[in-house]
Amino acid sequence: MPLKSIVVAACYFLLLGLMNAPAWADVPANGSTTAPVVNAQFRIAPVSDAWRASVPRDADAATAAYLNRLSPAIVARADAYFEGGYWLQLWNFLTGLVISTLLLAGRRSARLRDWAARVGRRAFLRDALYGGAYALASFVLSFPLTVYQGFVREHAYGMATQGFAPWFGEQLIGLALSMLLGGFAIAALYAAIRRAGAQWWIWGTSVTVSLLVIMLLIGPVLIDPLFNDYKPVENPEVKTAVLALARADGVPVDNIYEFDASRQTTRISANVSGIFGSAAVRLNDNLLRRTSLPEIRAVMGHELGHYVLNHIYKMIAEFTLLIAAAFLFAQWAMRRLLQTHGQALGLHGVADVASLPLLAAVFSVFLFLATPVTNTLVRTQEIEADRFGLNLAREPHGAAEAFLKLTEYRKPSPGPLEEWIFFDHPSTRFRIHDAMRWREAMGSP
Ligand SMILES: [Zn+2]
Repeated sequence: MPLKSIVVAACYFLLLGLMNAPAWADVPANGSTTAPVVNAQFRIAPVSDAWRASVPRDADAATAAYLNRLSPAIVARADAYFEGGYWLQLWNFLTGLVISTLLLAGRRSARLRDWAARVGRRAFLRDALYGGAYALASFVLSFPLTVYQGFVREHAYGMATQGFAPWFGEQLIGLALSMLLGGFAIAALYAAIRRAGAQWWIWGTSVTVSLLVIMLLIGPVLIDPLFNDYKPVENPEVKTAVLALARADGVPVDNIYEFDASRQTTRISANVSGIFGSAAVRLNDNLLRRTSLPEIRAVMGHELGHYVLNHIYKMIAEFTLLIAAAFLFAQWAMRRLLQTHGQALGLHGVADVASLPLLAAVFSVFLFLATPVTNTLVRTQEIEADRFGLNLAREPHGAAEAFLKLTEYRKPSPGPLEEWIFFDHPSTRFRIHDAMRWREAMGSP
């Protein structure tokens, strides 16, 4: 391993993180676990019912009234944070390509496969061992970027609540999971590719989509509790209000749960998970602590919308097409790459697990270029859920208030092309305008 270049890269990224740390950093430099203090200039001033009643009926003017409550400091910080994310997408993509190159060069990947074959003997076990080792190598090589992106930067913007030790502990849990589940997934994928022959893209797609569905099934039950504690919501007012919304639309739940997201972050969020008849309504404690009941009703109306509109099944169908296209592209690219470089790299064709770094690189090129498409697929569902939530909860002001708070980590007023390319949720401006248009059309207070 070129240890020296890894160390150089680590220093570079840490330096980058420190340089980019904005002047408004409000977390002690030692990264202690104290919750970040919200700096006064970044607080959105609360308003009264009288203010809400005075908001113009016209949707455009009402949207402007809401957005005017975001101070220039809040907008500048949100823009800097979100636009930094565009560059991070590029750095993550390039880091992935560098990792593939490092693993393939000097026949490292082929030697790793030979080691796995000696230890594992059977093909499935060999590929699982290779997959686990691959996950470990990727973790180590991308760790500097992970530290910058997940720790340094989140602290610099005052959204992280964890010290380094607990944060690193969670990274290790994630590593163990990706070695275990990744190893199994890689072995399953290559078992299918080995048997498939020329049409391996069909089998690759089937196995990948099946694994995706398995992850959707076990994620909320087995994986989420490894990172957070889940318990029934105690606040009777919130519980009654959210269960009423669920019951009104026939969502099969009799309890709602809260989880301690404040352990990791100050962000507000919630979700309704579940597939094949199960459903679980889950709110994070930041949402419960930082928002009013109308805001909670608005947010949960949105989340229930995802469930009632069968978004998860539609998303699986859409991603199946996308994954199939990616595998078709991979089949075409891998044939050419293996013809020209396969022998020199010690790779025995596409069914050889040692060619995984090449497959991963080809896949990441496709998915990187498809980013506007995936973002638009997701964003379209988010817009549908927003509109569903408005019709269900009838809280245009609660919705607008919650959307204002989301500006903490999402640029509020992007250009249309920028929103189309980079936004997996609509912007604050778009969402508040939707809420205010609903209010205008329905003659709501
Ligand atoms: Zn959503």
